[in-house]
Amino acid sequence: MISVDEALEKVLQAVAPLGAEAVSILDSLGQVLAEDITSDVNVPPRDNAAMDGYAVRARDISGTNVGAPKHLRVIGTVMAGAIPAQTVAPGTAMRIMTGAPMPAGADCVVPFEDTDEEKQKKARPGQPITEIGILVKTGAGANIRRAGEDMAKGTLALGRGTVIRPAEIGLLASLGHSRVKAIRRPVVAVLATGNELVDINQPLPEGKIYDSNTYSIAGLVKRYGAVPRILGIALDSRDSLMDKLRNLESDMLLTIGGVSMGDLDVVRDVLEAEGEMVFWKVRMRPGKPLAFGRLRGRGGKGREILHFALPGNPVSCMVSFEVFVRPALLKMMGKNDLAKPMVEAEMEESVKNSGARRIYDRVIVARRNGHYYARLTGSQGSGVLTSMSRANGLAIIPEDRKMVNKGEAVQVMMLDWPEEAGG
Ligand code: AMP
Ligand code: MG
Repeated sequence: MISVDEALEKVLQAVAPLGAEAVSILDSLGQVLAEDITSDVNVPPRDNAAMDGYAVRARDISGTNVGAPKHLRVIGTVMAGAIPAQTVAPGTAMRIMTGAPMPAGADCVVPFEDTDEEKQKKARPGQPITEIGILVKTGAGANIRRAGEDMAKGTLALGRGTVIRPAEIGLLASLGHSRVKAIRRPVVAVLATGNELVDINQPLPEGKIYDSNTYSIAGLVKRYGAVPRILGIALDSRDSLMDKLRNLESDMLLTIGGVSMGDLDVVRDVLEAEGEMVFWKVRMRPGKPLAFGRLRGRGGKGREILHFALPGNPVSCMVSFEVFVRPALLKMMGKNDLAKPMVEAEMEESVKNSGARRIYDRVIVARRNGHYYARLTGSQGSGVLTSMSRANGLAIIPEDRKMVNKGEAVQVMMLDWPEEAGG
């Protein structure tokens, strides 16, 4: 039996980033950029107003102070999206809206609140403003966004390897890109195994259970940005398994169940016959019977694909996914940051570790007064999915600890982030 760390190392050795595809920018959310994006425009394209106000010549208003306003003739208004036709000559001003291009001649914007516009409007409602009183001295360059200030033409806007988040999508859009080259999402086939399993769209006969793992695992695949392909349920026989895999073409295969020591656990046989098994059984709980290997010729054009044979217990398969499959998928997607966020939390109850395995206990982590506290979500049986549903983290009890006492600190792999608890 190998350790979690050795197993993860073997998994990561076996995976490499996939190729690139062109996708629409919105679809690229969470993918990794596979090209350098150089700006071929200035953003913003021209100097423009950062505030609503008056575009003026700073020199005209240099003597302004409270009690001695400077009066300028108003020659027009420029709205965002318009091109100002007139030049601001000495002694004149132009009303300007945020985002509107600066008119020639003007070198700063005096915000409305630093003028007497409000006062004039109150005194003469509905009358056009022909002369504006500037109340506050404003320096050259004030309240102007410079052309190319966000991105100058010719500079690198986004480098390959960048993870595309909403900000990057906006940035691509600001450069006029509707599509982008990104490392493609892995297609992950998900196959449940078990004579006892029934599809959720069927009635449930006596003695059977619904196949829930297909859905929790497909949910995890989606959550981390890959594309699940549900293959259905195979019976516990070699023939049924082979039949379900007949037309398989994907980047990864996840089978669920059939990988323990039971009479009908045939998944390993198939993995050994159809490919190469890299390891079977990891020193962890839940999740020990995990097997990992490569299957020949299932990736299209004779390519081999990775096969994780996840244990069938509902919690074991989810935990094995988080620990091994997730980092593999992220690496395939070109990401470098493969670890889930970890926090150090104080255990609120004692936990035992009798088997010298690494334990992943389902916990609820809460933050109080800047400290994290972890408590178990209830029964830690590997079939108890409700206690997974209640958990926001997995507390890691090291393999060399027989016991972690109440009040001791543990590392917790966060599945979701805790809300700040009051008090
Ligand atoms: P196995 O690893 O095949 O021995 O399965 C271990 C336990 O997990 C058994 O109680 C199975 O019934 C259950 N199990 C296996 N696969 C699924 C599944 N897809 N959905 C729900 N439970 C499952
Ligand atoms: Mg089974």
